[in-house]
Amino acid sequence: MSPTAGTSPGSQPDNKTTFPVGISPRNSRRPEQVHPPSMSARPHPEEADRVAPDELPHLRRCVELAAEALADGDEPFGSVLVAADGTALAEDRNRVAGGDHTRHPEFELARWAAANLTPDQRAAATVFTSGEHCPMCAAAHGWVGLGRIVYVASSEQLLGWLAELGVPPPPVRALPIRDVVPGLAVQGPIPELADQVHELHRSFHRRESRTDAGRS
Ligand SMILES: [Zn+2]
Repeated sequence: MSPTAGTSPGSQPDNKTTFPVGISPRNSRRPEQVHPPSMSARPHPEEADRVAPDELPHLRRCVELAAEALADGDEPFGSVLVAADGTALAEDRNRVAGGDHTRHPEFELARWAAANLTPDQRAAATVFTSGEHCPMCAAAHGWVGLGRIVYVASSEQLLGWLAELGVPPPPVRALPIRDVVPGLAVQGPIPELADQVHELHRSFHRRESRTDAGRS
């Protein structure tokens, strides 16, 4: 289950390669070379609270991508799409700073999966993400038939953090993923990484409030 040498989740994506919709390929494998999914790769719902130790690097990569988004002036969210054999296939981070608030990484990964993976490969894949899918992204995930989701911080946590910071709630109601996609295997939050994600959101909104104060 360990990633191919040279493509560990901590490695940098190849910036020279142009990929559609801001997606960075995680390795040089073409999607059709992905190993066939095995049914055992998909956990039972009752196993949903366990994250295997070899999956933590994917979650850490999500936090790194969220930090990259923050450094680029965007909201700190990052996500990685991982095949049944543990290979990271694609990754992205929030790109809403330009004004298009649908440019969430989970939505981009769902569309990438629809374009590049077979239905069986999608069902056996896992999406790791720094924050629980919003309803738009959960719906896209469900419509393209992707498999398990593992998130670091829940939408409930994020709403609590926004309230602490005095930030108005988002215009779209946060619903648990399984309220949007019934029966999906979902794991999270991941307490050992949630503090890092919390700090990224604090940094983003403190900077935003300073910018707003500067404008007024
Ligand atoms: Zn979303």
